Amino acid sequence: MNSIPKTGYMRDITGQRFGRLTALQPVSRGKNGAVKWLFKCDCGTQHVALAANVLGGRTKSCGCLRRESSTLRSREMMLRRHRERRAQNG
Ligand SMILES: [Zn+2]
Repeated sequence: MNSIPKTGYMRDITGQRFGRLTALQPVSRGKNGAVKWLFKCDCGTQHVALAANVLGGRTKSCGCLRRESSTLRSREMMLRRHRERRAQNG
């Protein structure tokens, strides 16, 4: 992936962390001025996201965070069911 010059960009966020994402380099800029950056996620995945979304807190990972939290939810549900069963048996 080619890097693009940082000059003229609204903000240089190289090396900054946002949730699980660390900004590596800007990769593209849309006609409307929306800048896409290449990020490295804590899970090791490289992920391209709109800087505006990451700075605004809407994007916090490559997507692994969402996957993990849904796994966590189902685990909690199983745990609750297990506890209810124990309660019924006395
Ligand atoms: Zn990730």
